[in-house]
Amino acid sequence: MWFIGLRASRRGAAAFIVALIAPIVASILVPSLPGRWQFAVAYGLALIMIMVIVWLVNVPTLLGRALKGVSSQAFLEYELKDGRLCKQCTPNVSMRIATFHLLLGKIVDGADATRAAALLRTLGTSVGKSFALRDFIPKLRRQGASDAGDVGQRLEMWRFFDETAGMGQFDIDSLHLPSVTGTITLRNSFLVFDREPSDQRPYCSFLEGYIESVLETLSDRRLKVEHVHCGMSDPDSTCLFSVATRRNDA
Ligand SMILES: [Zn+2]
Repeated sequence: MWFIGLRASRRGAAAFIVALIAPIVASILVPSLPGRWQFAVAYGLALIMIMVIVWLVNVPTLLGRALKGVSSQAFLEYELKDGRLCKQCTPNVSMRIATFHLLLGKIVDGADATRAAALLRTLGTSVGKSFALRDFIPKLRRQGASDAGDVGQRLEMWRFFDETAGMGQFDIDSLHLPSVTGTITLRNSFLVFDREPSDQRPYCSFLEGYIESVLETLSDRRLKVEHVHCGMSDPDSTCLFSVATRRNDA
């Protein structure tokens, strides 16, 4: 069903539009009924559509959480205690995106574009591996997720976790499973925010390494992630990453 393939927000919007036009459709389908019956049928149909909206938007989400054995909402919870900000038991620090950019800028200071990309990629790989191995997988286990866990569920939890950390809006629906190949898009990436399209050194190489190491760790596969299109020059501010199996692993 085409509705299910849409994000919940888009499903809701689409169903809402259907609910709006339902009375018109009903009046066309049952033109011979007396006026008050036509009215009743039309708005009865609209009511059914509203119930369908509620089901389409909420039930799959709730069911998905139950199947994962993990409360997605729990990943959103931050706790500030004695000056320490924790996101699900992991100490965090909130910083401006501009500060993060400044840090990356200092790391690649003086390097040409090729060298800068390599440095950022290596950095992202280390960060992704550390996050996935030392933090995310233990976190899933603490939350009750199965060690063997379905790869698709793990990836979805990761997408949700990083999206709610403010990294941008990930779309991993184009990834083929279980091979974990295809494409990932990231809209409004925190590394693209407020950067000039003319900048010859996009910071997205950091995410290339980061996404690659996270996907590899969560899927136990050897993968190659490449940043093939940048949101810095995209009116929709969307970066595109290709994900392929490493040649020596094919
Ligand atoms: Zn980019």
